[in-house]
Amino acid sequence: MKTIVVLGAGLAAAPLIRQIMRSTVLTRKGLKMIVVAPNTHFHWPIAMPRVVVPGQMADDKVMFPLEPIFREYPADKFEFVLGRASELDPSANLVTVALNAGDSRAISYDTLVIATGASAKDDMPWKVLDTTEKTVERLHDLQRDIEGAETIVVAGGGLTGAETAGELGFEYARSGRKDVYFVHGGDLPLAPPVLQSVRKQTKTELEKIKVKMVANTTVTKVTRSGRDTILELRAADGSTSTLTTQAYVPTTGVTPNTAFAPASMLDAHGYVKQTTRLQAEGHANIFVVGDAGSLEASKAQAAEAQTIHLIKTLPLHLDGAALPDYHVDTRDVYGVTLGRSRATGQMGGFKLFSFLIWYMKGRFLGTDYAPLFAAGKKTMMTTFEK
Ligand SMILES: Cc1cc2nc3c(=O)[nH]c(=O)nc-3n(C[C@H](O)[C@H](O)[C@H](O)COP(=O)(O)OP(=O)(O)OC[C@H]3O[C@@H](n4cnc5c(N)ncnc54)[C@H](O)[C@@H]3O)c2cc1C
Repeated sequence: MKTIVVLGAGLAAAPLIRQIMRSTVLTRKGLKMIVVAPNTHFHWPIAMPRVVVPGQMADDKVMFPLEPIFREYPADKFEFVLGRASELDPSANLVTVALNAGDSRAISYDTLVIATGASAKDDMPWKVLDTTEKTVERLHDLQRDIEGAETIVVAGGGLTGAETAGELGFEYARSGRKDVYFVHGGDLPLAPPVLQSVRKQTKTELEKIKVKMVANTTVTKVTRSGRDTILELRAADGSTSTLTTQAYVPTTGVTPNTAFAPASMLDAHGYVKQTTRLQAEGHANIFVVGDAGSLEASKAQAAEAQTIHLIKTLPLHLDGAALPDYHVDTRDVYGVTLGRSRATGQMGGFKLFSFLIWYMKGRFLGTDYAPLFAAGKKTMMTTFEK
């Protein structure tokens, strides 16, 4: 029996699991797949900037139980192990898993797929935390803070920060119900390669819904005092100030979930060194897709393009055939939702109309197709036959 082990059950893993099960594992003798992940539910990060606004989207719009999805596969062909890879020994083809239930289990593989993604910093539920339960708990705490706050502060000038400031501004600031501040390090939100015109429009749209922009500024210290959080801020000119909030919403980036891999497999930033065949450098039987890999930025578009490539090439690898290269799409494509009626973005060097991005992304934030994504039947760009 040969075993394919997939680490992760997120955006990169979900389509791969179903499509490889159907194309290969279920149709060939002597093959089995084991999926290892700490989350009982598939988590859809794209809609989280709206989900944190109390009453906007229920948990079940962004979290889908995996058990009913995996139930269709026979036990001799498929196993779901609820736990987290804690150690990888590529010389022995062995991965050790810290089980959610406690204890650990060693799993041997013939082929390994690393799709462990990246976690949000500051213990934020933008992505899966330790488990689905912890993610839900943290999300509900944050929603409660936002509900009860007079002042909300979003910090971090990336896509998640801009979109969250937009959602909170649309719900509360534009009507004057609550103050919403957006603290970001640059003179404009977002950063190159996002076009200057897109960054300017982001600022303009947020200002229209009365978000208070605190540019060229970073949060240097966070202190809790009763229901208040006191933020110490430092501006680019070195001046310091404080801002008091009852709902602090940091959006300060992601860290790759790769602590289980030997240091020799990782680049300087902790991403698994990934070849253009989507293999881990120096390991022909280890593949890497999505945010955990070093080849592309942490974007769903990249994760899905890599996964679609691997769906085609993994069967070739199992046959011992030569693998074609994966080509990175160098066009910069961004869609930035700014509240529930406006958006901006770009396709390569061209800025796109607000209405187009709102129609494509902002209306539903992908929640209209996320259940199919979780089931491995669809990605943003591809609908599979089965
Ligand atoms: C708020 C937000 C909004 C976003 N919006 C966009 C957008 O509009 N467009 C876009 O292109 N991208 C967007 N992204 C980025 C996108 O979500 C990621 O690129 C995508 O989720 C990457 O998929 P992944 O499967 O590699 O990782 P993840 O989705 O993070 O999945 C990783 C999986 O691995 C599991 N895991 C973690 N550690 C281990 C371990 N040690 N062992 C086993 N399993 C493990 C996790 O529990 C999870 O199941 C957004 C991200 C956030 C946070």
